Amino acid sequence: MSDDCILCRIAAGAVAVQLVADTPRIIGVLNTLEPFSRGHCVFFPRKHAENLLEMEDGDLAEMLIEIRDVAAKVGADSFNVLSNIGALAGQTVFHAHMHLIPKWSEHEGLVYRREPRHGLAHGEVGERVVLGRPSV
Ligand SMILES: [Zn+2]
Repeated sequence: MSDDCILCRIAAGAVAVQLVADTPRIIGVLNTLEPFSRGHCVFFPRKHAENLLEMEDGDLAEMLIEIRDVAAKVGADSFNVLSNIGALAGQTVFHAHMHLIPKWSEHEGLVYRREPRHGLAHGEVGERVVLGRPSV
């Protein structure tokens, strides 16, 4: 735990929150500070990890299960689940977390724009991730 990490402080019970998930591994809270929409929740592991890449497998799996279960309770037909990793991607709290953002209307929720880069070559990055066996 880090005293200057807001999510560690929440995990330690030092900050008043509205819990939506509370397991030995995962906490989920209603985002009351900067909600994008009604029912916007934030989920994170009790154990500090800077981002998803550092999370234990069990924490990561359980976090997705909690997000799924809370999403069902929220009842929105459309919603976004995301994690910003790294400052360039918009991460501002460096304790791994995922957002569940209900999309109630065109304007309430995450405003997502599809911006495909037609003709983009994946090059060396693609070679790093594509499996070496033929696809079916
Ligand atoms: Zn932390």
